[in-house]
Amino acid sequence: LERFDVNNVRKDFPILTRTVNGKPLVYLDNGATTQKPRQVIDAIAHYYTQLNSNVHRGVHHLSQLATDAFEVTRRKLKPFINAAHEHEIVLTKGTTESINLVATCYGKAFLHAGDEIIISTMEHHSNIVPWQIVCEERGAVLKVVPINEAGELDMAAYRSMLSDRTKMVAITYVSNALGTVNPVKEIIDLAHASGAAVLVDAAQAIQHLPIDVQALDVDFLVFSGHKMYGPTGIGILYGKEKWLNAMPPYQGGGEMIKEVTFAKTTYNELPFKYEAGTPNIEAGICLAHAIDYIQEIGLDQIARHEHELLEYATRRLLEIPGLRIIGTAKEKSSVVSFLLDGVHPYDVGVILDKLGVAVRTGHHCTQPLMDRYGIPGTVRASIAVYNTTEDIDALIAGVERAAAMLR
Ligand code: PMP
Repeated sequence: LERFDVNNVRKDFPILTRTVNGKPLVYLDNGATTQKPRQVIDAIAHYYTQLNSNVHRGVHHLSQLATDAFEVTRRKLKPFINAAHEHEIVLTKGTTESINLVATCYGKAFLHAGDEIIISTMEHHSNIVPWQIVCEERGAVLKVVPINEAGELDMAAYRSMLSDRTKMVAITYVSNALGTVNPVKEIIDLAHASGAAVLVDAAQAIQHLPIDVQALDVDFLVFSGHKMYGPTGIGILYGKEKWLNAMPPYQGGGEMIKEVTFAKTTYNELPFKYEAGTPNIEAGICLAHAIDYIQEIGLDQIARHEHELLEYATRRLLEIPGLRIIGTAKEKSSVVSFLLDGVHPYDVGVILDKLGVAVRTGHHCTQPLMDRYGIPGTVRASIAVYNTTEDIDALIAGVERAAAMLR
């Protein structure tokens, strides 16, 4: 195994050499989307110069090449998450679509009046709103697991919420706003003991830690290509075969059918039953290169590097007087959210931007979580494989500058 050298990694990401507002770019908004390595960028150009064609349709050569390349991604995703079958991997346009698909289709098949769905206080809006919609349609009830001040799930409260009315538990693996890593294995085992299925939102986990869907015994796992160094517009839904077979299709159209007559239509086999219409072919094909990229470095190495930076950032931030970190869970990954006393997070973000430092400010699509803390939002720095201690130093210098100017 080659020793991890962050400077070599940085050479793979052309955008990291550009400047912003006359300063070298310090990109710490990886929770929103990651930058792309040259391998992925080159694959996109290669697709449009050599392969461009529709998939699963033509007999002609290019269509076959594009179809094969598209299916290579599915083939690589299988061992990446250790799925039992390739056909348990449905390609969508992102985490949001994957969750909407499960909420809609699982809801139609299995939810009835009085059934309960459990989510948590720290969910992203995309793991709240689809469940609210399906609850309204089916007369089901949404229950929310509370958190403690550190931003950890109240597992005692979770246990007491589970009952034979619970049909689905939808929970994030890593919180995009706090960085909390949730005990998903325990959550899944408890849910299964009550007869409920579990969806894990891995949008902030898949690029930071190894995931094995069979070891977890998770029913549904969802994530986005663009947060794992891949293109925008491609997402993943892993679902156990038994659920994907039992649920109705999400959308109707081309590709998802076996035979159409005006009297009756039969549906295609898995996973195509859930892939109506022309997919994002370019993104689907090029995601394979992002998976290769992650695997060449290794998620263990990535996690170790990112964790060192997270600890360094946390320690340095806490040296700044009047700075408060939101989210102090024992198990954290790659995200540090904070507030400066008496200063609006947006104003800190603007000053950081002037210095070339990209962070996210605001509620991070987690308004109920911000309400839980009684804050309007936070400043969030989120770390990826190519970040360095120099990046963190630039963040700290910027926050100190903001503190001096704004207070
Ligand atoms: N869940 C979490 C935890 C996220 O961080 C995000 C992206 N911010 C999403 C879901 C939604 O992902 P996408 O916008 O790619 O659909």
